[in-house]
Amino acid sequence: MGQQHPDDLPERLAAIVGARHVLTEADVRAGYETDWTGRYHGRARCVVRPADTAEVAGVVRACAAAGAAVVPQGGNTGLVGGATPRGGEVLVNLRRLDALSPVDLAAAQVTAGAGATIAAVQGAAAAAALEFPVDWGARDSATVGGAIATNAGGSRVVRFGTMRQQVMGVQAVLADGSVVDDLSGLPKATMGLHLPSLLSGSEGTLAVVTAARLRLVPALARRAAAWVALDSVGDAVSLLSQLRGLPSLDGAEVLLADAVGVVADEFGLAPPAGLDAPVAVLVDCAAANDPAEELAGVLSEHRGALATGPQRDHLLAIRDHVSLAINRRGVPLKLDVAVPVDRLAGLVDVAQRAAHDVDAALYAFGHLAEGNLHLNYVGTTDHAGRVTDAVLSWVVAAGGAISAEHGIGQAKTAWIERARGPAAIDALRAVKRALDPAGLLNPGVLLP
Ligand SMILES: Cc1cc2nc3c(=O)[nH]c(=O)nc-3n(C[C@H](O)[C@H](O)[C@H](O)COP(=O)(O)OP(=O)(O)OC[C@H]3O[C@@H](n4cnc5c(N)ncnc54)[C@H](O)[C@@H]3O)c2cc1C
Repeated sequence: MGQQHPDDLPERLAAIVGARHVLTEADVRAGYETDWTGRYHGRARCVVRPADTAEVAGVVRACAAAGAAVVPQGGNTGLVGGATPRGGEVLVNLRRLDALSPVDLAAAQVTAGAGATIAAVQGAAAAAALEFPVDWGARDSATVGGAIATNAGGSRVVRFGTMRQQVMGVQAVLADGSVVDDLSGLPKATMGLHLPSLLSGSEGTLAVVTAARLRLVPALARRAAAWVALDSVGDAVSLLSQLRGLPSLDGAEVLLADAVGVVADEFGLAPPAGLDAPVAVLVDCAAANDPAEELAGVLSEHRGALATGPQRDHLLAIRDHVSLAINRRGVPLKLDVAVPVDRLAGLVDVAQRAAHDVDAALYAFGHLAEGNLHLNYVGTTDHAGRVTDAVLSWVVAAGGAISAEHGIGQAKTAWIERARGPAAIDALRAVKRALDPAGLLNPGVLLP
């Protein structure tokens, strides 16, 4: 098919999805064109909201024919500008693809549309006495498609792995509008490259995910948490060695004092009295039987508090509110890095020094077990590059990851080659060229 006149594109798209699902007015587009942090803004040619896979395929085909770039978007909770248009792309929002199949109890799986929220999947699993084991604060808005595209992590990775480990099958629209459809969910199928793995972490650059077959796990009815007050990051790492021996360990979140303080100031959510400390670790445990006994064993050696029921919910709410509280202090520079756990204390030193050098506030928290810290700098307006260079150079030299779970987006493209090396980047580019030769899927994201 020859290239069609690009000016006709909104009308062509309207013929596929219905005129009221093609948004062209600037004020209606605005909410889709800015990211959650307020750091990234862009202009889309239009926002398209298809209802099903056939409509997504039609939209992508029409864009390919017009030579128009596509930015896929789910819940728009990403933190690296990956779902924000850069200039004139067609923004394809997948939220209307939110269907959920009945839970397949024999397989312990569910099929979810790309636009289903993580909370909706968790709810469907819970109604069947199962769990969907990926969880994080943006669960009510973040979607299955976005979670696959970013290979989302969250607080339970220590036990269940990232999104990649939960995706048993995918359905996706390729750059030419063709549909790859593998929602069988077979745990064993050795028939060449594994598409769910290929698309996990691809950030909308290889295909538009339209549905996924997701793994569910047995529900663990008994839960208990502990807030452990510690003097240093080194102490947190020692505690982690002890926690690794707990069969019920479900999460180990680390918060430096400033991150705890900002939640208390902005939302009035504070840890139990007497537990102020330079470093806190929020340990969450889940088991079929009461895990409180295992946690009590840990607390016998540390200053901390055990919590179940509403008290546990309160501790988890502190953690869930950190990003929201930081946003109230200004538009943060967000660095989401991971290092081998024995380098965590060194990372915190470097991060604090970078904040001090430019007189910025630093709020640090993250996922202890994966050596993953979210470093949020507020007040770096003129120095974002300097802070980023200082921290990411150190992380690369320490053998770490410049993005642990948020992705590269448009925020970190300048760094990916240094982090992964030229041979790996050549391989990623070759895959991109093979699947999207015209470079129309999310250009400018992930690869520079
Ligand atoms: C308060 C808060 C806490 C967070 N905590 C965590 C955390 O602990 N762990 C974590 O991993 N993340 C966290 N995040 C980041 C974010 O929620 C995740 O990255 C999430 O996976 C994004 O999902 P989304 O549907 O909002 O995707 P979007 O933001 O809409 O898009 C993200 C990326 O995925 C692509 N994309 C979206 N949908 C599709 C699709 N159907 N097909 C192909 N590509 C697609 C986009 O192009 C973009 O590159 C947090 C965010 C917030 C706001």
